[in-house]
Amino acid sequence: MNPFYENLFSILFIVGLVLSIFLIYLLVVSRRSRITQSKIEKAKESGFHEPVSLHPVINAETCIGSGACIEACPEKDILGWANGRAKVINASRCVGHGACFHACPVQAITLCIGTEKRGVELPHISQEFETNIPMLYIAGELGGMGLIKNAVVQGKQAVEFIARRLQKNSDKHYDVIIIGAGPAGISATLTAAKNNLKYLTLEQDTIGGTVFNFPRRKIIMTSAMDLPLYGKLKLKETTKPELINLWSEIISKNEIVINQQEKVLNISKSNDIFEVESDKQVYSSYSVILAIGRRGSPRKLGVPGEEKEKVFYRLLDPELYKNENILVVGGGDSAIESALLLADENNNVTISYRSDKFVRLKPKNLERIQKYSIDNKISVLFNSSVKEILDNEVILLVNNEELIIPNNIVYIFAGGELPNHLLEKIGVRITKKFGDAVLFHKK
Ligand SMILES: Cc1cc2nc3c(=O)[nH]c(=O)nc-3n(C[C@H](O)[C@H](O)[C@H](O)COP(=O)(O)OP(=O)(O)OC[C@H]3O[C@@H](n4cnc5c(N)ncnc54)[C@H](O)[C@@H]3O)c2cc1C
Repeated sequence: MNPFYENLFSILFIVGLVLSIFLIYLLVVSRRSRITQSKIEKAKESGFHEPVSLHPVINAETCIGSGACIEACPEKDILGWANGRAKVINASRCVGHGACFHACPVQAITLCIGTEKRGVELPHISQEFETNIPMLYIAGELGGMGLIKNAVVQGKQAVEFIARRLQKNSDKHYDVIIIGAGPAGISATLTAAKNNLKYLTLEQDTIGGTVFNFPRRKIIMTSAMDLPLYGKLKLKETTKPELINLWSEIISKNEIVINQQEKVLNISKSNDIFEVESDKQVYSSYSVILAIGRRGSPRKLGVPGEEKEKVFYRLLDPELYKNENILVVGGGDSAIESALLLADENNNVTISYRSDKFVRLKPKNLERIQKYSIDNKISVLFNSSVKEILDNEVILLVNNEELIIPNNIVYIFAGGELPNHLLEKIGVRITKKFGDAVLFHKK
């Protein structure tokens, strides 16, 4: 072939190849952007786009779109990629790992609490975790910083600060009362025992806190930490049973007592002594650590029969129940997801919800509950409430008419009482954070 045409063909081939690669790149970019944009729209619809507390904020001017933050986030679908930049999709699902912050090669991510429009109320604490009430400390997520490792570190440090400042003139009071036995409360308890303090730990539920409520198969992401009375824990990934078993072993090996199923209702202070009132007793102490997290206490219905053993406020192992008559009270995602899981185990499930329709459900949950209802796999009673829980039945009011249905188990998902109520009652100063940056140190 004529060398001129040969060269022309080669040049055209190379230009064509470059253009094809560029076109493919544009198609990929546009597809990824569309996917992210549609995920953002869905997140907005279901209320997960707006941050609740800690969340990443991306500086669009410095972001180079490396995608490192998206890869690094262990929770998935919190961040996405659109038009060459990282974008926040489900801000309210962020638990504050900070992995995105550490992965970003150009420091374009800040972790913030609250937004300009929506402030987040947090207790005011000093660098030593002390509140405006002297010798009343806050450790763990209640102070605004999530994650198991942070809670463990803060619980330990709060007790060490207390041990240094403690001035006691009698042995009749506790040195410290620790409220809550999640990661922060357990760590505080172990540190108190290690320092030979006279301590008492009160937990409204069972040990483990939020971790105890994780699904059994959830992978817990964490990093190496010092567990008091145990030493260095070199875990990166673990599971709920592994972590709970480890805590239980340390607790029993060191003969540590934690009062479970005992809820603190109020705390007051006079003459430098705290009075801690639980639903069982009143105790006195020189200092108090609030390690009650931010998830609150499940709200009760206050109906006769609610104290029965067949009434629960969370679903941990749906596979344990088969062919039971189960009532699920509530219309939020937790209620619907639990009802669906229980129905999948061939239980006879009824949902009682006080409103006339489901609002703010995740679209997938809404779609599934509608299908299960049409297929008669779950019976949904709108405009209904529980009047009384009997041993083998429940009495409901549906559109103000009584309805009695057979029943073996009741699950109540009526929301929670936020910990701020308790803080306000005690007199802890609370401040609103409007998008304040949370500092992280580069690894
Ligand atoms: C879905 C989800 C996934 C997560 N994944 C991870 C992860 O992979 N890795 C990670 O590091 N972190 C993760 N976290 C965050 C982590 O679980 C929390 O940051 C951590 O549990 C906070 O510990 P805490 O001790 O401060 O509070 P909590 O764990 O919330 O414990 C507080 C305890 O106080 C008790 N309490 C409350 N009120 C009272 C009262 N009045 N009287 C007595 N007791 C009371 C509660 O019953 C509870 O046991 C996740 C959180 C969620 C919700």
